[in-house]
Amino acid sequence: MTPQEAADQTEIDPTVPPSGTGCAECLDAGGWWVHLRRCAACGHVGCCDSSPAQHATAHATASGHRYIQSFEPGEEWFFDYETGDVLDGPALEEPTSRPADQPVPGPAGRVPTDWRSKIH
Ligand SMILES: [Zn+2]
Ligand SMILES: [Zn+2]
Repeated sequence: MTPQEAADQTEIDPTVPPSGTGCAECLDAGGWWVHLRRCAACGHVGCCDSSPAQHATAHATASGHRYIQSFEPGEEWFFDYETGDVLDGPALEEPTSRPADQPVPGPAGRVPTDWRSKIH
C-alpha cells in the first residue's frame, strides 16, 4: 500500500490518545481481534475487517469519523472510509500502536483454537 495524499486534517485530532491497548468493544465483551485500527478523530481503538466483529468499521459508520490509522507496530498508514484510499496523515498522540508483545490475533488467552475459521 502506497500512501497517496495527505488526509484532511480538519477531521483529525492528533492530541487525543488511543482509547486503550485493544479494541474497545471486544475488551468489554470478551471478544478477540486480528488487527487493530485507531480512529484519527476520537482515539477509539477497534478491530479490523478481518476480525469477527469489525468494530473499527462499525465505529466509523456510527460516528461519521472517516479516518483510521493502523494501530499495529511499525504501520503508519491512514485509511479514508469516504474514498477507500490509503493516505499519509499527521503524527497522532502516543502510543501509536498496541503493545509489541500482544499476540496476533489477540488478546492473549481469548483467541479460540479454531480462529482461522472465524475471520473474514
Ligand atoms: Zn472489536
Ligand atoms: Zn472516532
